[in-house]
Amino acid sequence: MGRALIIGCGGVASVAIHKCCQNSDAFEEIMIASRTKSKCDALKDKLSGGKTKVRTAQVDADNVAELVALISGFKPDVVLNLALPYQDLTIMDACLATKTHYVDTANYEPLDTAKFEYKWQWAYKERFEKAGITALLGSGFDPGVTGVFSAYAQKHQFDEINYIDILDANAGDHGYPFATNFNPEINIREVTARGSYWENGRWVETAPMEIKRVYNFPEIGPKDMYLLHHEELESLALNIKGIKRIRFFMTFGQSYLTHLKCLEDVGMTSIEPIEFDGRMIVPLQFLKAVLPDPASLGPRTKGKTNIGCIFTGKKDGKDKTYYLYNVCDHEASYREVGSQAISYTTGVPAMIGTMLVMNGTWRKPGVFNIEQFDPDPFMDGLNKWGLPWQESFTPELVD
Ligand code: NDP
Repeated sequence: MGRALIIGCGGVASVAIHKCCQNSDAFEEIMIASRTKSKCDALKDKLSGGKTKVRTAQVDADNVAELVALISGFKPDVVLNLALPYQDLTIMDACLATKTHYVDTANYEPLDTAKFEYKWQWAYKERFEKAGITALLGSGFDPGVTGVFSAYAQKHQFDEINYIDILDANAGDHGYPFATNFNPEINIREVTARGSYWENGRWVETAPMEIKRVYNFPEIGPKDMYLLHHEELESLALNIKGIKRIRFFMTFGQSYLTHLKCLEDVGMTSIEPIEFDGRMIVPLQFLKAVLPDPASLGPRTKGKTNIGCIFTGKKDGKDKTYYLYNVCDHEASYREVGSQAISYTTGVPAMIGTMLVMNGTWRKPGVFNIEQFDPDPFMDGLNKWGLPWQESFTPELVD
């Protein structure tokens, strides 16, 4: 039994909060705190009647003093950060000041640089060790479950993993000509950035969307997928022994890419502030304001996601391949918690990671990526809480 403070009340938080309330044996009490308190109150009203006690609060997560006051008042066992990547460091500072465990789903990114790197959060390692508290970084799906899958493959299936391909397919159709499945600003920053992969101890950079493959996904069928940089590549390259190459591919439909290209060409995806009507605006933030809210896609999205990892390596001196993946249905997710599968596949692992830190199963002083913990209780949690995994020993490989 424990208490969790959840910061942010967007698409991912809504699922994580539903799941905490389903898991009331672990989550005795939660507080939902976000910039817009009315959203927290509206969610609380939907959830009232369950055993988990729910409180709400307003907080500016860019302000450490406000966060410290909130944490000191509520005294949670753990803080689950589901605001935006820009708030990671202020929330970690507040956790240090109050000696409270910390969990997030995305690595810190400065507002003015679209660059995913763990260096800022890893720099907190010694301070978390000294304070005797745990920071669990990246407890979503990717990063998150992909790291747990890698730790599980390393523990149970291989003596040495040499290659990992992470494949993220979304075959969902929301019926809009263009929309993003999670926060548009974060999503577009990710897909317009240069691609990269890790090979033989160094990063190989690519132009955005330069490398394309077609993969025949179980339960989805053939899809175009493109190589992107993704944050878990950095930590897996360090934490998986014998690794020679790690790549990340995500599927995109032609219509999405054509719209994105046009928006880029006219400057709408830029994060450089410009003057408009006497005030400074960031084009990408303005674009976010005119695009459909990802939360509104839930009732309209049909189809499935398939996210997983293909491992190639050695077991007992022999070559071996192994594919671990999860298939999630958009409509089933919506029926259960009122959100589409992208939020569902992130919110469920966020709840599981928070539970494992809160109940002490995954507690050690310092700052850790998810693959640095024992994967087994998390793998059990995925089956129990709505993201069952499947395995194949003869997967199609990506060339
Ligand atoms: P949303 O934009 O839907 O939600 C973000 C929430 O954070 C909103 O409620 C917003 O408040 C709140 N917020 C933003 N700034 C502040 C602030 N300064 N103080 C307090 N609250 C703030 O995003 P998502 O739910 O889609 O994403 C949440 C996180 O999950 C992101 O970090 C994203 O990168 C990550 N993610 C991780 C994935 C993974 O697999 N690992 C996949 C998808 C997302 P308001 O309502 O006022 O705007």
